[in-house]
Amino acid sequence: MNFKEYIRDIKDFPKQGIVFKDITPLLNNAEILEKTANALLNLVKDQKIDKVVGMESRGFFFATLLATKLNAGFVPVRKKGKLPFNVLSKPYSLEYGEDALEIHTDAIKKGDRVLIHDDVLATGGTAKAVCELIEELGGEVVQCNFLIELDFLNGKDKIANYTVASLLHY
Ligand code: AMP
Repeated sequence: MNFKEYIRDIKDFPKQGIVFKDITPLLNNAEILEKTANALLNLVKDQKIDKVVGMESRGFFFATLLATKLNAGFVPVRKKGKLPFNVLSKPYSLEYGEDALEIHTDAIKKGDRVLIHDDVLATGGTAKAVCELIEELGGEVVQCNFLIELDFLNGKDKIANYTVASLLHY
């Protein structure tokens, strides 16, 4: 299955110099959507997972599908100020300046085995911050799982202490 046929490059979005990986054609096709979810699931193999953590916002799509397939709960990590209950917050660096990622403090229990999922691994800053949030709540990061890894940005180096699995590489 050539999943890459269903991912389109949008040049200079959201700003000059970025080639944005648009996954909406892949989400739009019923057969490919199901096949992608199963291929991501195959990356996890037979590991027991208690929670799947998805990163706002494009990480939510497959993180939720993976959670149902793994018989696990789903946990959203969101940008600062979006989650309504008590949060643990982690600053992370963006291209320009800083922002923060947040998780509900009751979302992960001590000893929970956690799968992290996002659509794209770019510089790795987002994934690193999410791993730290999970560990601060007492969870164990079993795998960082991505639909797309931009190899040339070496994001893997930032999360070198964790198992990383990506379906597609560019
Ligand atoms: P980073 O923290 O640099 O690894 O960036 C990862 C986050 O930014 C992910 O949540 C992605 O959704 C988004 N992202 C970064 N680069 C791209 C890209 N070229 N196309 C689509 N999304 C991207």
